[in-house]
Amino acid sequence: MPSSHSRTFLQLCQLRKSYPEGNLERAVLAGVDAEIASGEIVALLGRSGSGKSTLLNLIAGIDLPSSGSIWTEGTNLSSLSERERTQFRRRHVGFVFQAFNLIPTLTVAENLQLPLELNGNGSTAFSRIPELLSKLGLAERAETFPDRLSGGEQQRVAIARALVHQPRLLLADEPTGNLDAQTSAEVLALLQTLVREQGATLIVATHSREVVAIADRVFAMESGKLVEQTNPQSLRTTVSIPVPCPTN
Ligand code: ADP
Ligand code: MG
Repeated sequence: MPSSHSRTFLQLCQLRKSYPEGNLERAVLAGVDAEIASGEIVALLGRSGSGKSTLLNLIAGIDLPSSGSIWTEGTNLSSLSERERTQFRRRHVGFVFQAFNLIPTLTVAENLQLPLELNGNGSTAFSRIPELLSKLGLAERAETFPDRLSGGEQQRVAIARALVHQPRLLLADEPTGNLDAQTSAEVLALLQTLVREQGATLIVATHSREVVAIADRVFAMESGKLVEQTNPQSLRTTVSIPVPCPTN
């Protein structure tokens, strides 16, 4: 479990992202600052259009900030070349989407093999697939195609795919947006269990508060900034000692 003495895993420093709007620029992220410790589960709340996906895409290195910096364990993402950022993402990041995004022409097991192949992982890594599927209650589904699965099953496969290469960071963008309340709770509990087992750091974006139940810390996106919320379900009090943002 994370404690007040946890290692800093991720630092967001004065992060800004603007998009052109007519002749003007509209700031979606207007100076986001946050520090997240290794192994924390972070909920990112905010209404639709508040910039949650924009922020996750920046943290994943899919997109670049207009200004500011993102440090992951001492590496400034902006200092990497595009190729290095892709490599960073394949090795260290898992992503779960609202729409599952499984590859329809591949079986469940093949969907899980893909990130390992992209990463050049060997057969040792492939041997994790049956174990992971079994943990997610999908042992019988390995040879099934995604369109034969329920929404909850598809999202469990997507979670397995996001974790199979044992990333240090898991990003989930409205992962329960297409699921009913009961299935959402099950999927979130599984996410929590697996992330804890792997010691990964998890950031879950959502516009509903259901994720608060599994989160160590809760942030809300408000007017382009991150505001930490008091988590009513946690008795843990975090004494956070701010670390100054590194300079390149
Ligand atoms: P959320 O995930 O919280 O719903 P998003 O990050 O998707 O919010 O979007 C935040 C705002 O940024 C929205 O107003 C959206 O229209 C705008 N936006 C997102 N991506 C782009 C883009 N590529 N070009 C222009 N505007 C964008
Ligand atoms: Mg979004």
